[in-house]
Amino acid sequence: MTRSAPVPESKLPALGTTIFTTMSALAQQVGAINLSQGFPDFSGPDYLQQRLAHHVEHGANQYAPMSGIPVLREAISKKIARCYGCQVDKETDITVTAGATEALFASITALIRPGDEVICFEPSYDSYAPAVQLAGGIMTHIPLTPPDFAPDWSSFSAAISEKTRLVIINTPHNPTASVWQKEDFDALWAAIAERPLFVLSDEVYEHICFSQQGHYSLLQHPSLRERGIVVSSFGKTYHMTGWKVGYCVAPPHLSLEIRKIHQYLTFSVHTPTQLALADMLNHAPEHDENLPGFYQQRRDFFINALQPSRFTLLPCQGTYFLLLDYSAISTMNDVDFCLYLTKEVGVAAIPLSVFCKEAFPHRLIRVCFAKEEATLQAAAEKLCQL
Ligand code: PMP
Ligand code: GLN
Repeated sequence: MTRSAPVPESKLPALGTTIFTTMSALAQQVGAINLSQGFPDFSGPDYLQQRLAHHVEHGANQYAPMSGIPVLREAISKKIARCYGCQVDKETDITVTAGATEALFASITALIRPGDEVICFEPSYDSYAPAVQLAGGIMTHIPLTPPDFAPDWSSFSAAISEKTRLVIINTPHNPTASVWQKEDFDALWAAIAERPLFVLSDEVYEHICFSQQGHYSLLQHPSLRERGIVVSSFGKTYHMTGWKVGYCVAPPHLSLEIRKIHQYLTFSVHTPTQLALADMLNHAPEHDENLPGFYQQRRDFFINALQPSRFTLLPCQGTYFLLLDYSAISTMNDVDFCLYLTKEVGVAAIPLSVFCKEAFPHRLIRVCFAKEEATLQAAAEKLCQL
């Protein structure tokens, strides 16, 4: 007698395939211009690509050290000193990971035990909540409201309990394109100083910041730094989202625990890519300094091209995303509107409600402007017809 194969009880029963995968697949299927999933339609620096080929050809093809290749960790520590004026120990504080995604997952897994509470602002990037759930943690969401999406610190303080162990923050913020200033970090510190909790700061868009003061990193805040983990991604900085190399920076006692997870999640990251990234950081440190101007030009081009449209454009201080309010165009909910936009208008976008657990009663969609001007122009022409 044959037994039927067992079906696993899902550990994430409420989840399906991510919105980014779904919308990109739909865009491809119907031939729409894809402004949904965040990735550039151009490539990263030639030099970086040449160095990758060089290291593959020259035999750098075996396992890298678990925490990252020393020359890359050294280059990262120099970059941090240059950008944020602080010293981080390349041996104990920096861990190279398979994209920021792995750094986030390893950090959450290392810190959260069943029943621990985690505070996150919402809308929020989609990978935080499932990692917390898998670790047995409980998420509390503090809503951010348009148009400025500024945190309400009294709601934040009220949400802290004896069980709160971690706060997850993200600046420049995906999807709202808002940016935190030093004052926000001071307010965060004032709220948590007396509490035994940690801060996970997702700063993958650290070099895509248009605010006058520039990006403020948690690494610049001496008190928060003692209990903080900062996550970054080379995918964003070098226009190579498919390379999936990132890193996290944390004090030694935190890095030690993160590495215990990292060593059994991936062990180490693609060797030739790490070497190529180290070469790139050392060869062209000015690359990231030019990035705000590079993306601001695209942002402004797109904003200008959308002027005749009936969308209301929200402020964009960072990231390569822009929020569009379609209230003047349709009463559809944002998911239906994005499906309509993709299938009937030929432009794919992301509905903002998918970044929220609580109801999000706004008519907002996210579009990615990390595209060639011709792509942005063609998309804007279609959007202006609505
Ligand atoms: N955090 C945020 C806010 C992101 O937008 C992304 C990717 N788009 C990530 C983390 C993941 O980065 P990576 O691709 O390096 O894993
Ligand atoms: N972070 C990218 C975005 O926000 C998507 C990354 C992914 O597809 N997982 O669009």
